[in-house]
Amino acid sequence: MGLEDQKVTERMSGIKRKLLVLSGKGGVGKSTVAVNLAVALAVAGKRVGLLDIDVHGPSVPKLLGVDGMSLHGTKESIHPFAIGDNLKVMSIGFLLRSSDDAVIWRGPMKFNVIKQFLGDVEWGDLDYLVVDSPPGTGDEPLSVAQLISDATGAIIVTTPQDVALIDVRKCINFCRQVSLPVIGVVENMSGFICPKCGERTDIFKRGGGRRMATEMRVPFLGSVPVDPGVVSASDEGKPYVANFPGTDTGRIFAAIAAPILGLDTGGVERTKAVDAAAVGNSPAGDRGTAVTGVDRRKGDSQMRIAIPIAQGKLSMHFGHCDQFALVDVDTGERTIVSQQLVDAPAHQPGLLPGWLRERGADLVIASGMGQRAKALFKDNGIDVLIGAPSDEPDTIVKAYLEGTLVTGENICDH
Ligand code: ADP
Repeated sequence: MGLEDQKVTERMSGIKRKLLVLSGKGGVGKSTVAVNLAVALAVAGKRVGLLDIDVHGPSVPKLLGVDGMSLHGTKESIHPFAIGDNLKVMSIGFLLRSSDDAVIWRGPMKFNVIKQFLGDVEWGDLDYLVVDSPPGTGDEPLSVAQLISDATGAIIVTTPQDVALIDVRKCINFCRQVSLPVIGVVENMSGFICPKCGERTDIFKRGGGRRMATEMRVPFLGSVPVDPGVVSASDEGKPYVANFPGTDTGRIFAAIAAPILGLDTGGVERTKAVDAAAVGNSPAGDRGTAVTGVDRRKGDSQMRIAIPIAQGKLSMHFGHCDQFALVDVDTGERTIVSQQLVDAPAHQPGLLPGWLRERGADLVIASGMGQRAKALFKDNGIDVLIGAPSDEPDTIVKAYLEGTLVTGENICDH
């Protein structure tokens, strides 16, 4: 390790978790998500640093209303700005004389600027450092990922359009190449909520982020609608999640931060991803009720349902099934999109919730299950319905989508 790299490592040694916010391309709301994530973590009482290292469009100072401020420091180090008790902010924008500066720098120069910057900022002790990285999968985010070699993971921001999703696939592959765990994907600008009537219009295709996350086997953290309130709050330098916590969008930003807060209690706790339409809908109970799939998951267009199978039908003994049917459905269209059968792993207590989470399951429909297993599924962000009849998986899923699946008593405890 070179001296400079050592300096970066030393400067960051008091930081428990380093999170890189990435996007396949610019303009998708990466900085907006980074700011709201950092603020949500700070509001939750964590000591947070927010580092804006997007050389081409450092927008964090503006989003937090600290643009135009000058840097403070000593010969050896620069001090981040403190906002409130828990949040420290530093942006490479403070170093640029004009927004054209970065454009004229050639690759190695940018690398050196990023490296020096990372090595100069004195953060002190932090629970989280949220890094607003340069967009794309080129040399600049690569430099950041290499320099912060012990990063906890990446949060990838995308929009629902297909082209952005192609970019995000590249982004996930980029993370895999540099061995950076993907904490999850956020779909931004997902549908438009009319400020007058509250009705949602899907300007672009919605749900692509969730679908792509499921396909690529990475967690989906939530979808944020296009909200004119976000634009005005950003223009005024007021982070949305702290200033409008009671709004749907405010709750969505907070819910995106929730599994990341869970990192402090061990592992990436994958809580249920939410979107605007889902906020405020309470989940259906699991005893003796006809479960309406569409109402229950309103707003999620895609989800994966897992059903334990023995001899082609729902297994009455959850922990001892032969296979799992993984059924992808579109809850908006009420259709089955695809279905696959996978062999169940060898029986081992406590294994299935994590195993099914890795396979992208959002919901398990079973006949019965012990309380501990149910709690474990919940911890893994997977809903459970029990008391379903022993039918073929597509019959069960169709009934679920039509709202006629009757679930009832816990039939079997193992
Ligand atoms: P990036 O960092 O990816 O370039 P920004 O976070 O700077 O993107 O966002 C680009 C623009 O989109 C900004 O003007 C921002 O206010 C706006 N924006 C971002 N997310 C939303 C949203 N959910 N609703 C409305 N406007 C948004």
